[in-house]
Amino acid sequence: MNQNKPVAVVTGGARGIGEAVARRLAHEGFAVAVLDLDAEAAEPVVAAIRETGQSAVAVGVDVTDEVSVEAAIAQVEKELGPPIVLVNNAGITRDDLLHKLNAESWDTVLAVHLRGAFLVSRAVQRHMTTARWGRIVNLSSVSALGNRGQANYSAAKAGIQGFTKTLALELGRFGVTVNAVAPGFIVTDMTRATAERVGLTFDEFTERAIREVPVQRAGQPEDVASAVAYFVREDASYVSGQVLYVAGGPRS
Ligand code: NAP
Repeated sequence: MNQNKPVAVVTGGARGIGEAVARRLAHEGFAVAVLDLDAEAAEPVVAAIRETGQSAVAVGVDVTDEVSVEAAIAQVEKELGPPIVLVNNAGITRDDLLHKLNAESWDTVLAVHLRGAFLVSRAVQRHMTTARWGRIVNLSSVSALGNRGQANYSAAKAGIQGFTKTLALELGRFGVTVNAVAPGFIVTDMTRATAERVGLTFDEFTERAIREVPVQRAGQPEDVASAVAYFVREDASYVSGQVLYVAGGPRS
């Protein structure tokens, strides 16, 4: 089925940015494992990729669960082959101002973003070091620079940047690059949920966000997928440990 195409894993690939990244990597010639909490939710993305003649599989995983992650990566290896590209994209928000933020929301957000990226990277890196080639791209955010109501999320996304730079130092000698993409406002279910939380319609929320964006438009998942596609290219092999803000302006 795979015809020996290089294999990429995208976590949280069932929708939003992860879906756009999965489709883009398939377009770039990768066989793509679309990982998400619910494998069934990832099936439409897999079907769309297969319609273009590329290979893809849907795999259920909870990135915070060590056993689940090991099983998912073993399944990817069995069904598509050893993965050599990983995009740590799975994410959640549990926003609140500090005085209202409960410990469970803190732990859950840090677990999905940080523990999740750690567990999946650890499981996949062995295939990359064996191949002596690999690409890891982690999803950070402009919130890493601070965002009201997101103490947990911004801590996680800043943590992702340190994690990225450390992995770049450790894995460079094996031909593995590790970079981060830090999006600004992107139109997905995540930003729809934020609009709801602050009591605005999505149109009002988007309009307000765009006022702060130098290029004067909202970002789309495909904007982020383009940045990911750059980092995984063969000729990006001298670029590692970097954070690329995809925010319609500097924000760093
Ligand atoms: P999204 O539409 O909410 O999609 C996130 C995906 O991750 C969902 O399919 C979700 O599954 C999955 N997921 C959540 N917890 C998981 C877990 N424990 N194990 C496996 N999968 C899990 O989010 P998005 O907006 O596309 O965001 C994607 C990434 O970009 C996130 O890391 C986010 O923090 C980052 N980001 C987004 C924006 C933005 O403006 N949208 C900006 C900066 C950074 P379920 O559907 O089952 O929950």
